[in-house]
Amino acid sequence: MDLAERLSKERRARLAAERLLEQKSRELFAANEKLALHARSLSDQVVEQREKVRSALSEAEMLKGQNTRFVKDLDKAHTTAVMAERRLWDSINTIKDGFAVFDADFKLVTANHAYLAPFRGKPVAPGVGFDEMLTILATGGLLDLGDAPVETWAGDILHDLDSERAEPHVLKYVNGNYIRLVNRRARDGDVVSLAINITEQMRIWAAIEAIPDGFVLFDREDRLLTCNQRYRDIYALSADGMTPGAKFEDILRFGLANGQHPDATGREEEWLDQRLSHRRENPHDIHEQHLTDGRWIRAYDHPTPDGGRVGLRIDITEMKEQQEALRVAREEAEAASRAKSAFLANMSHEIRTPMNGVVGMAELLCDTGLTAEQRLFAETIKSSGEALLVIINDILDYSKIEAERLTLRPEPFDLERTIHEVAMLLQPRAREKGIDLMVDFDMFLPTRYVADPGRLRQVLTNLVGNAVKFTDKGHVLIRVVGLETEPGQQQLHVTVEDTGIGIAPEYLDHIFGEFNQVESESNRKFEGTGLGLAITQRLIERMDGAVWVDSEVGKGSSFGFRLTLPVAEASILPNLPITVHRALVVDDQFINRTILERQLTPSGVATVLCRSGAEAMEVLASGAEFDVVITDHQMPDMDGIALLARLRAGGFTMPVVMLSSNPAAARESETASDLAAILQKPVLRAELYRTLQALSGPDPQEAPPMEPPVPAEARAMRVLTAEDNRTNQLVFQKMVREWSIELVFAGNGLEAVDLYQSFMPDLIFMDISMPEMDGRDAARAIRRLEKPGAHIPSVALTAHAMDGDAEGILAAGIDRYMTKPLRRAAIHDVLAEFCPEGALPIALPPVAMTGT
Ligand code: ADP
Repeated sequence: MDLAERLSKERRARLAAERLLEQKSRELFAANEKLALHARSLSDQVVEQREKVRSALSEAEMLKGQNTRFVKDLDKAHTTAVMAERRLWDSINTIKDGFAVFDADFKLVTANHAYLAPFRGKPVAPGVGFDEMLTILATGGLLDLGDAPVETWAGDILHDLDSERAEPHVLKYVNGNYIRLVNRRARDGDVVSLAINITEQMRIWAAIEAIPDGFVLFDREDRLLTCNQRYRDIYALSADGMTPGAKFEDILRFGLANGQHPDATGREEEWLDQRLSHRRENPHDIHEQHLTDGRWIRAYDHPTPDGGRVGLRIDITEMKEQQEALRVAREEAEAASRAKSAFLANMSHEIRTPMNGVVGMAELLCDTGLTAEQRLFAETIKSSGEALLVIINDILDYSKIEAERLTLRPEPFDLERTIHEVAMLLQPRAREKGIDLMVDFDMFLPTRYVADPGRLRQVLTNLVGNAVKFTDKGHVLIRVVGLETEPGQQQLHVTVEDTGIGIAPEYLDHIFGEFNQVESESNRKFEGTGLGLAITQRLIERMDGAVWVDSEVGKGSSFGFRLTLPVAEASILPNLPITVHRALVVDDQFINRTILERQLTPSGVATVLCRSGAEAMEVLASGAEFDVVITDHQMPDMDGIALLARLRAGGFTMPVVMLSSNPAAARESETASDLAAILQKPVLRAELYRTLQALSGPDPQEAPPMEPPVPAEARAMRVLTAEDNRTNQLVFQKMVREWSIELVFAGNGLEAVDLYQSFMPDLIFMDISMPEMDGRDAARAIRRLEKPGAHIPSVALTAHAMDGDAEGILAAGIDRYMTKPLRRAAIHDVLAEFCPEGALPIALPPVAMTGT
């Protein structure tokens, strides 16, 4: 082997060794590096592990602390839970209602005091069965089980316990308490049992059940909450639909289906709509219902504070029956009253017709030449007839007022004249008794008013008539004063004062009652129906006025009334040309003198007042001058006639006017013709002025008044009287015999219509009840024949006194009506009023006819 070879071999070996070394170095390096990396990662892991250990340590520390806290908290929580449980049981024990828990096998787990109270002293403790508890209750004598045997009762309750929704049971204790037992199964199978004390509720409910009326309560959705048995009984056909929770509408539907509401038959839906909308619109409602069985119910519904509705149903069947009975009774009474009125009207006709003959003929008889005895008889017939008429009229009037058939007929009239007429009518009686009847009508008061003059005259006649009747000496004074309450309205006070027997205070209210009279020795002698004041009061009240009385026994009475009336026209203060300026007034009565003075002064007549003839002579002797002497007739010592004689003897020639309550007697005296005038007392103001005017000489400033031209050929007024009754024809004929009229009678309506055409009357008097054709039909027939503008006035003569008649008569076209018996003065007034121009005037009736 050569060296080179060796060398090259060595070199190659070296080179290989070097390469191996280099490779091994590289491998070493890499291994070192890996090792370093590994070491680093190990170191990192160590650090990390160390970190973990450290954090685990601190976590363990923390957990340890936490654990200690938890133990503490648990301790606290346990204490709180124990306290809460104790508090809960304290609370559960304080409530009045019982609370208990049973396990799934109905063994008692726990219960509060209230639940256990009935078992005090009994072996009841946790573990005891519900059934055992019920048996203890039932057999302990505490419960009122009614008729139910213990087993059944307890069995029912136990049975319910197993059902899904156990119904509550009400336990009634013998001490009057009520408990509602409610059992509920909890999710875990336990049973919660509540024993609720419902004694108060049961008491209220018992009361609601006890009321005799139906009671019902609905909630705000109109669902039935409850109702009592009475309510179910009232709506018996709907009762089965009244389950709690049922809607009102459904109960109605149920009732409809069962025939509860007969008024809905055939229109059920419409009825239901109406009923429901009525209920909606009227939360406060009262209405009446008529049920199928004939009963009547009054239903009251009211809203409750929570939006529900409470209702009461009252059975008013009995009340309805009474109402019906009353209605029937009223109808019967009304029918009876109508029959009575018709009877009265008939009776009035029947009585008045013959009375016309009696009174009329007696009146005519008195005017003929009679012996004193015959005159007495005739006058007695007349006055008895008149008295009878007053009574008939009173009874009729009263019946009319009672039957509300009295109608007032207001018209313009002269109040002063009416009062004077009443006074004149009563003057003869006053004169007989020797009492003075005076009128004091306030000078400044208008005299014409609008009212029913007939009725006012009746009131005045009653009051003045009583005053005259109950007065034996002294006077009766009618006084009228008034004040204007508003323009055209006068409040009038009319008083009638007397100096008669008076009325004891205890009778003052009583006398205005019907048929009431003062029962005493002093007035037993007076006659009367006892209706006058009752009628007076009612009439004045109908005129919106008031009546009163003041009286003192033995001194006299003062009756008065107040009325507010419209004035018919402006006051007619006489503006007559009176040239009499000075008057000497002689009257023994102070009131009369004063009235005269007040009547004369406003017309410019100065007066000197004397109490007696002697005083008057003294005044004249002193040289005073007078244009007229106005003297009373009857005066003590020297009467008016004697005074006249003394005046003339003394050379005094002035005119003397005498005021007398008995002009007829005055006229009989020999010197009567020397009197300038005799005036009926009480004197009407207008009458006095007329007389003084006549005494006045012609006013120099005025031309003498022209006398009205008397027609050259005056004809008599033509009067047609339709009257079937012969006596009445005769009476009529006699009554008008003094006047120049041409009188023709028709015996019935048909004749009247014929005569109307052939006789051409100026005035027709028409009887109403006549055969063939009655007065109303005749009047209608005549009105049809009348030419326009040629109306012939007609006056009905009727014996009917009821008001409806008057209206029927006037409706037939008759202008007036007069009630029988006929009075001559009334006939005169009508004749005078309708006497046509160109006919002979109707003379004044003799004074004796006006009531003297
Ligand atoms: P009559 O007069 O018909 O008995 P009234 O009703 O007019 O009936 O009067 C009732 C009663 O009142 C009279 O009976 C009488 O007792 C009493 N009375 C009425 N007016 C007077 C009066 N002016 N003075 C005394 N008593 C009177």
